[in-house]
Amino acid sequence: MNVAEFRSNLRAWLDENDLTPPPGDHSLDAHHAQHSRVLRALYDAGWMRWGWPESAGGLGGPMILRAIVGEEVVGRGLDEPGPYSMLEVLTPTMIDYASPELAAEMVPRLLSGSETWCQGFSEPGSGSDLASLTTRAEQRGDSWVVNGQKVWTSFAQYATRCVLLTRTGGPDTPNHAAITAFFVDIDTPGVTVRPLRTMHGVDEFCEVYFDDVVVPADRMLGNPGDGWQLAMDLLPYERSTCFWQRIAYLYSRFDALVGEVRQLGQAADSHLGDAYLALHTLRCRSRATQHRLADGQKLGPDTSIDKVLLASAEQQLYDTARDLMPGVIELDDTAWRTEFLYSRAATIYGGTAEVQRNIIARRLLDLGKE
Ligand SMILES: Cc1cc2nc3c(=O)[nH]c(=O)nc-3n(C[C@H](O)[C@H](O)[C@H](O)COP(=O)(O)OP(=O)(O)OC[C@H]3O[C@@H](n4cnc5c(N)ncnc54)[C@H](O)[C@@H]3O)c2cc1C
Repeated sequence: MNVAEFRSNLRAWLDENDLTPPPGDHSLDAHHAQHSRVLRALYDAGWMRWGWPESAGGLGGPMILRAIVGEEVVGRGLDEPGPYSMLEVLTPTMIDYASPELAAEMVPRLLSGSETWCQGFSEPGSGSDLASLTTRAEQRGDSWVVNGQKVWTSFAQYATRCVLLTRTGGPDTPNHAAITAFFVDIDTPGVTVRPLRTMHGVDEFCEVYFDDVVVPADRMLGNPGDGWQLAMDLLPYERSTCFWQRIAYLYSRFDALVGEVRQLGQAADSHLGDAYLALHTLRCRSRATQHRLADGQKLGPDTSIDKVLLASAEQQLYDTARDLMPGVIELDDTAWRTEFLYSRAATIYGGTAEVQRNIIARRLLDLGKE
């Protein structure tokens, strides 16, 4: 099956199998239930398995098939871009770093929506400077005992498991060799999850506390000291491949904005054109990234360009909504307000705009440290 045929078959299947979210409930609980429902249906019909290796429950085929599924599902509003993006962030890591047995057992659970997982990297004092993290894991016999705190852990209240970064090296171990990753069950005694309310009124992320949490040694991802490399391999996915479906969503919001501006009787002005151009530039860049990955290339610091373009295009779209629909964001309790507020996070999550620009300057343009 070629890519165009795949897409048209998927579209026909989605037309026949109505997965539209039930109307009226915009809570996070409803989004989570819808995420599980959509993934279950797509997995059972095989769509969710294309583009993933057979060793981890996939059906093989080029990775570009995953991008097409995400684009159709999120672009049609069947799932939210945030929860859906966790698939592209965490699954490649599990395939690359978990033991083959663990990946074969666990990955199908994520792809089929029977479980969701979270990413426990950031800590109160360690965000951009991730290498300074202090959550500790100490070996005791066949197990490791984890103590510490994570923060901004998206959807941890729904997660069954967590890809967790810990410090295992001693005081003399250089930072980047001292970090080890584990795949931790959230229901292990000693794990406490406390949701945090964001300014857009949703408990999207959480504090997660670890008090003497015992993790079996076979839940280590890679070897002791591989955690930094795992993070460096994961972040390019977080800064690129998971954007394709988010872009599809932003296009659908752009179309909605054009419709609402017309209804208000406003002339379409150059701001709409500028917002479209930013979105289109982002989509062109992201398309090239999806193809590079499908061709077997490894992603790296170049994905910081995707991240900067995404954050700028997303914020520009919602700034345009604010400017062209006076008062709607400030006075009306609509999705535009929630999304405008959430768009401010685009220059923070997955690496802040300033840090991405530093990476572009230093590692891609070789401009030196200052
Ligand atoms: C919506 C959302 C979801 C998130 N989900 C997760 C998640 O699931 N899991 C997870 O682990 N984390 C998550 N995060 C956390 C995110 O990764 C961090 O917020 C991000 O890495 C920045 O870290 P920080 O918040 O500690 O800010 P800091 O690193 O303290 O930065 C504060 C400010 O200083 C600037 N700054 C810092 N260092 C430099 C530098 N060297 N040069 C120039 N400027 C600098 C930053 O750009 C920023 O403006 C999420 C964040 C958001 C907003």
